[in-house]
Amino acid sequence: MRGLAPYQTGLWLAEYIDIRCQLCRIYRSMPQSQLLKHHSLSSLNDVSAETASQTHSLLTILRHQTTNRLSSGLFCAHCHNSMNWLPKPFNVDIAAGISLPIQASTYYEYPMRQAIRAFKHHEDMTKLPLLLHTIRQLPRPHGCHNNNSVIVAMPTTNQRLIKRGFDPVSILSAQLSKHWRIPLWHGVKRVDDTVSQQGLTRAERLSNLNNAFALIETPPVKRLLLFDDVSTTGASLQALARAFISPEKPATVNIHSDTNYQISAYALAHGSQS
Ligand SMILES: [Zn+2]
Repeated sequence: MRGLAPYQTGLWLAEYIDIRCQLCRIYRSMPQSQLLKHHSLSSLNDVSAETASQTHSLLTILRHQTTNRLSSGLFCAHCHNSMNWLPKPFNVDIAAGISLPIQASTYYEYPMRQAIRAFKHHEDMTKLPLLLHTIRQLPRPHGCHNNNSVIVAMPTTNQRLIKRGFDPVSILSAQLSKHWRIPLWHGVKRVDDTVSQQGLTRAERLSNLNNAFALIETPPVKRLLLFDDVSTTGASLQALARAFISPEKPATVNIHSDTNYQISAYALAHGSQS
């Protein structure tokens, strides 16, 4: 598996060099050419006082541009406002009396659907800035910080990793970790490598899924923020969450502080069930 460096470079370019909206490709702030015009004017001017003033205005423009970019992000204001951000969270049960809230950034529909598919299935890195803008809409859960929480990315199977050559969820979760300043934790593995989901009924698939994750170490903190790219029924996140609730111990045991985890889940997009 490749490192995160190439992805990071692409994101840096999108964020600081390419000033077009990642969705409509229209300039989202002052074009570079205009900025250069300003710059050459000031360098031609040899009156030092005026040069200083020109330099000052150039700095003002640069600062203004940077502020604009930070506030509007990687989308232009029009595109940003046209999206349905943060749909109402939905819940799945993970044990008797314990439900898992799942918050998605947006819906799995145009343009997110196309972008996620291109990224996941064709490793189309040009879609990454758009996905990053989307991840950044997720507000950091209240009270969570780097000392009391970890992000648990949906583990992939070795089979899928070999087939795709990269793990989209780990790349996206690394960006979420950066955005929230909460570390990733890799203490769960996926154990369903050899079992194919194909040809199974829905009930069989779900039962398969419920045994798909195993803890390989004890989480260092009590607050667990699960992350997946797309969540439709929430079944995968539900199964992942259940890995933290031991089947031998009934849910009531988890009321004790030493086994009680606060689990919530996040996704890039919420797919429709139709
Ligand atoms: Zn736009």
